Amino acid sequence: MTAHRAIPTTSARVLVVEDEAPIRDALRTAYRQAGHDVLALSDGGRFEDQVDAFRPDLVVLDVMLPGRDGFELARALRSRTDAAVLFLTARDDLDDRLRGFEAGADDYVAKPFAVSEVLARSGAALRRLGRVAATMQVGDLLLDEAASVASRADHVLDLTATEWRLLVYLATNRGRTLSKTQILTQVWGYDDYDPNLVEVHVSALRRKTEVDGPRLIHTVRGLGYVLKN
Ligand code: CA
Repeated sequence: MTAHRAIPTTSARVLVVEDEAPIRDALRTAYRQAGHDVLALSDGGRFEDQVDAFRPDLVVLDVMLPGRDGFELARALRSRTDAAVLFLTARDDLDDRLRGFEAGADDYVAKPFAVSEVLARSGAALRRLGRVAATMQVGDLLLDEAASVASRADHVLDLTATEWRLLVYLATNRGRTLSKTQILTQVWGYDDYDPNLVEVHVSALRRKTEVDGPRLIHTVRGLGYVLKN
């Protein structure tokens, strides 16, 4: 087993193996925006060398790959690392899921997926392994990711699932301006493009987060939104 850093951190090393370029690119962008280091491969050709050099905390494996498939790669991982393993399955297939768990998967996401779903599952897998901190704080706003609870000034916010994902995304990138397109891609998925969704949910989040304090989600005119205190 490779020794891993023991101190929880919000930044992880994520190795993605996915042969479909649009999905690979969407995942690479999403993990980078979430503050992670990413290495994205199109196949498992030099997988062991890449694992040894990159020392990932999380390995995201597409099941159907040219050459060695995701199951083979997961088995190759087991003797080299205790990284979390997340499978991307082409369909919600019970056999695939069972084979994945047998091969050492921590979790799986069925295609087609929203990128936010993959990020959420990744965060949960990393937290289970103690690789990332479970709480984020922006001023007096606290996000307990393990419990999926947001609070401000000790008052719990009553958020919808979408508002929670949006707030987590903004908080993960606190201090950075995010465009509506970035937010759509990360919170709603890579194939959904209605900017009004973002405005409506930002408005709702503002109403709920501003009861107990000044504005945290700021509009950056012509660019997007930024969460900061
Ligand atoms: Ca594939």
